[in-house]
Amino acid sequence: MRQSQTFDPALHQAGSPAAEGACSHHAGGSSGDCAGEAVVSFEDRDGQWQSGCRTALEELVERGEIEPLGQGA
Ligand SMILES: [Zn+2]
Repeated sequence: MRQSQTFDPALHQAGSPAAEGACSHHAGGSSGDCAGEAVVSFEDRDGQWQSGCRTALEELVERGEIEPLGQGA
């Protein structure tokens, strides 16, 4: 299970789309379902922090890649 948490721009490289609140999960253009605004920060397979929108969060949780957010937050 990879790390994930509520979206935090500070985790992402300054000047990148993720640092500005955009979803990097869908940035490759593979999906038309991007909700736009990032709500989650998570580590990808390479240990890099990525940002994900609402849709990305649902997809990743469904695939068991990250845990759902919101416990105690
Ligand atoms: Zn997205």
